[in-house]
Amino acid sequence: MLFISANLTREGVMTKTSVFQKASQMADQVECVKNKNKDADLLDTDFNMALSQVISGMAIPTFVIDRHHIVRFWNKACENLTGIPSTDVIGTKNAWIAFYPKKRPVLADLVVQHSDRDSVAGFYDHFKRSTLVEYAFEAQAFFPKMGGKGKWLYFIATPLKNDNGETIGAIETFQDITKRKQTEEHHLQILEAIPDPVIVYDPEHRIVVINDAFQDTYGWTRDELIGSKIDFVPDKEIEKTRQAWQRTINGEKIVFETRRNTKAGKILDIQIKTAILKDPDGNHTASIIIHRDVTALKQAEKERDRLILKLDKLASTDSLTGADNRRQFFKKAKQEFARSKRYEHPFTVLMIDIDHFKAINDNFGHQIGDDTLKQMAEKCIALLRENDLFGRIGGEEFAAVLVATDPAKAAKIAERLRQELEKINIRTPQGLICFTVSIGVACLTKSDKNLEAIIKRADDALYQAKKNGRNQVKCA
Ligand code: GH3
Ligand code: MG
Ligand code: MG
Repeated sequence: MLFISANLTREGVMTKTSVFQKASQMADQVECVKNKNKDADLLDTDFNMALSQVISGMAIPTFVIDRHHIVRFWNKACENLTGIPSTDVIGTKNAWIAFYPKKRPVLADLVVQHSDRDSVAGFYDHFKRSTLVEYAFEAQAFFPKMGGKGKWLYFIATPLKNDNGETIGAIETFQDITKRKQTEEHHLQILEAIPDPVIVYDPEHRIVVINDAFQDTYGWTRDELIGSKIDFVPDKEIEKTRQAWQRTINGEKIVFETRRNTKAGKILDIQIKTAILKDPDGNHTASIIIHRDVTALKQAEKERDRLILKLDKLASTDSLTGADNRRQFFKKAKQEFARSKRYEHPFTVLMIDIDHFKAINDNFGHQIGDDTLKQMAEKCIALLRENDLFGRIGGEEFAAVLVATDPAKAAKIAERLRQELEKINIRTPQGLICFTVSIGVACLTKSDKNLEAIIKRADDALYQAKKNGRNQVKCA
């Protein structure tokens, strides 16, 4: 069996498959001739001739060496590319003269002698094992002397094996990628002007270009990424990313927020913009993805939200007791009033005022007065249900709204509140003291147009409670 590989073209001149198909067709032709001649080797005349025809017919620059590193074939395309006529090299071990100023192995030489990765690395910076053919290597390099200004070549060297699996030579094929490199360089210059990380993928989702900002943000270098795929999408973002990718492929330019891992394992909040590039025939040629690291922005947003919440809380809470302040209480009460009116739910207002509070301040000091207010509010909040409203609406005046509670039940709750507050013991230097409250209760009636109307009735009831001797509940 004879293996022939061909360069992958990324230029769009010939697709990867078509080049490969062509090479396989040629391999089939060689196979055919070879079968006629059972002990075929590179030195067999018939086979040699057939192979010569195949290779010289190839538009892909190609040369073949045998197991002794002697150049056997050097096709026209190879002459054109290198400027070295076949007569200079065929029959010699001098394939290197077309590429290097000094004698050294070419990739085919390394493949013939079964070099491993480390050995190849001694001669080439950018290379990898071929994904298409076993034992083959592909590499790219710049050849400064070639064609006057130098050329970037992409080349694959593939071992040629006989039926016993022995290497009988190697075939090396070339692709001039100078233009692509120049375009990449040009793109890179443009991309470098963008302060955000940019990544360009080919249609198979392999990385073609990344800019410096990408390297700086994510920590991977170009050498690590170009030509490969990157796995930096956190599990939770995979589906979202897949959908975004699909929409991008469909031609949409999209913007979405997601997260990405850095090489160091940090998770960044990222805003992504995507677009695809198409050739004049409408084929997808590349995807451009612009990332914006919004981690700091997100952090600032979170901090701002936290601050707003805190300010909101400060602005709506009474600092001494932690109960809703007057403004907040009336705001919520108004909303609750409207809802109760709409659904014809019972709605009760309690106005609660500490009896002779001034005397507590006068006899035990302001601090004890404050303690009293705090304990009183704490008790009320504990006794009321979560949906009920409670707020401090004045110095020692509090108010509550009981929702969905009928008047009889509301009166009972008010009475219970009074009794429980009476039980509170406030610790003072002079010993424990108690206090009492008076409570005015008013319930929503059909004629109530606004909250103020009920508040007014509850206030009046409170006044009556005070007048009647305090420490009591009075219903309007
Ligand atoms: P009544 O039974 O008629 O309600 O008498 P009272 O003494 O409770 O009512 P009055 O309105 O005469 O006095 C309320 C007192 O509450 C006066 C004020 O100094 C005091 N006060 C208001 N706010 C605070 C506060 O935040 N802390 C303390 N310790 N006292 C306060
Ligand atoms: Mg009072
Ligand atoms: Mg008062």
